[in-house]
Amino acid sequence: MTQKSFPITAEFIAAANTTAEQYAQDYERSVESPEATNAFWAERAELIDWMKKPTIISNVNYDLDDFRIKWYEDGELNISVNCLDRHLKTNPYKPAIIWEGDHPSLHKIISFKELHAEVCRLGNAMRKLGVKKGDRVTLYMPMIPEAMVGMLACTRIGAVHSVVFGGFSAESLGNRIIDSQSKIVITADEGLRGNKHNPLKVNVDRALDMEGTDSVEKVIVVHRTGNSIPMSGRRDVWYHSLIAGEQEQCEPEVMNSEDPLFLLYTSGSTGKPKGVLHTTGGYITYALSTFRDVFDIKDDDVYWCTADVGWVTGHTYSTYGPLANGTTTVVFEGVPEYPTWARIGHIIDKHKITVLYTAPTAIRSMMKEGDTFVRESDRSSLRLLGTVGEPINPEAWDWYYDVVGGGRCPIVDTWWQTETGGILLAPIPGTVALKPGAAMNPLYGIIPQVIDTDDTALEGPAEGNLVISNSWPGQMRTIYHDHERFLETYFTEYPGYYFTGDGVQRDEDGHYWITGRVDDVLNVSGHRLGTAEVESAVDAHPSTVEAAVVGMPHDIRGVGIAAFIILSIGEVASDQLKAELNRHVRTEIGPIANLDAIYVVEALPKTRSGKIMRRILRNIAAGQYVGLGDLSTLADSSVINKIIDVVKAER
Ligand code: ATP
Ligand code: MG
Repeated sequence: MTQKSFPITAEFIAAANTTAEQYAQDYERSVESPEATNAFWAERAELIDWMKKPTIISNVNYDLDDFRIKWYEDGELNISVNCLDRHLKTNPYKPAIIWEGDHPSLHKIISFKELHAEVCRLGNAMRKLGVKKGDRVTLYMPMIPEAMVGMLACTRIGAVHSVVFGGFSAESLGNRIIDSQSKIVITADEGLRGNKHNPLKVNVDRALDMEGTDSVEKVIVVHRTGNSIPMSGRRDVWYHSLIAGEQEQCEPEVMNSEDPLFLLYTSGSTGKPKGVLHTTGGYITYALSTFRDVFDIKDDDVYWCTADVGWVTGHTYSTYGPLANGTTTVVFEGVPEYPTWARIGHIIDKHKITVLYTAPTAIRSMMKEGDTFVRESDRSSLRLLGTVGEPINPEAWDWYYDVVGGGRCPIVDTWWQTETGGILLAPIPGTVALKPGAAMNPLYGIIPQVIDTDDTALEGPAEGNLVISNSWPGQMRTIYHDHERFLETYFTEYPGYYFTGDGVQRDEDGHYWITGRVDDVLNVSGHRLGTAEVESAVDAHPSTVEAAVVGMPHDIRGVGIAAFIILSIGEVASDQLKAELNRHVRTEIGPIANLDAIYVVEALPKTRSGKIMRRILRNIAAGQYVGLGDLSTLADSSVINKIIDVVKAER
């Protein structure tokens, strides 16, 4: 934990939607009793256009004998109406989506009216194909507007979407189709990222050759690159011909608040991905409400979240949160390094982006390339920055703040999970001085607790496991097909709480710092060390770019520390450098943080969403080189063998 804190500028505070006093008051009020929490969520539900207003706000019991999570259970609504139709009355020509293509010469601006028309067309077409309320539809898409159109068209007709990241293999896609038993797959001929073609349709064909995929009746194919692809006469249909003759009006399905909305598989950082199920009324209320709170949203914001639509962030904060609020959302097809590492900055200038939301892994990879690229743009339109996905190391935080944000823009470090549906911890901008690396404060209605291994909720400054002692509307309802695993994973270890699986520290000011996964927390001679803390210390050394730290068996201390390190360009691994790094970390954290092994590697094993898979490194550090578990979500599996070679050579 660094001692530094960054006050918010007076200019930002003057324009912010909330003040420090207001946040404190509203937060206290929202959690002072279960009734008060319900009253808060009843108020927030007023921001939704209901077809039938809910009279029951929550019906929750974490007791395993009588378990239930229901929000607004007698309410009825349609999410596409909330994201589209209602804005047509007020601002039909406002850009809903600004799409930036892979190549900088290509962009498209789609108004709410146009998006509504397209969603209705596809909704009508899918109805004609026999898609009914409750049917599952798999989307395997590049980052093009049709991805959002597909999701919203599902909500229009009550179908449950399952978006599978376009970077996943045919096999990963096939397994998710088998699990969801989808009736339709929506895809594109090819994806295009950094001028590289991704054979989406070919992958779909291969996935559908797998046993257990017979549920799929039609494959809808968006024409993106135009390269020739096989189309099978009876099963495959082009998106543009399918919707060509369809009406621009489509009767929205009346959905009960607790009807399923989507299913989405987690990143798989800790094991086999879980099919997380979210429902309708609670999810959209939470998405709408947290989006405007955390990003301090104004009418004229141009908001850009870089997350792929295949992750939960691409659902809640690229699609549903912004569109429900009538906010313009930017969708980027490409990658930060194409044509050069200056691209992100150029996009910000081109579309006058005001809020940028991205991940530490993206920030670190840009930082590695130096400041020159970023400085090609002036980025004066930016007023707020956000980060999500992993703990952000203070060095990357500083760079994001100083270089990308020009020292002007607050950073909201947002902690949440696929399971939580939306952000639970973040500094609401304008209400608190920022501490690099801390997710700071709970959002309204959320009661976080720090709990130790013998189930005691700790008071004051403390360190332990992060649990949430109440429910919130955006909470997941089950793991698809596996309610037992749901109860087992989240509600069994700490009875009466939602268990997040993350470690946390609460400091003297009551602010929260995520220390990493509980499974990854290092217990060295009885002292708990968060992976985030040790990695941040390694990252802060000028010779390193990124590090992953795991525990390894140690004769004396029980657990020793193994660090896997990527060196900065031009640095060479040497015993001297390793000794110097170890000295540096011991000075930063204390002698307890001794790096017992330092492995210099070319790349770290990461999920496709950029998270380090420490469980693999833990096995390797312990000398286990085979049987490394589910590797299907790994971005590049060839890094594993290279790491094993390094470790073997050092032993
Ligand atoms: P799986 O559950 O399958 O192992 P996953 O946990 O990586 O996958 P996600 O739901 O995408 O799947 O990620 C949520 C996790 O990401 C959180 O539990 C937390 O560990 C980490 N995380 C997200 N945001 C932050 C943040 N701002 N600070 C620290 N950690 C974060
Ligand atoms: Mg998780």
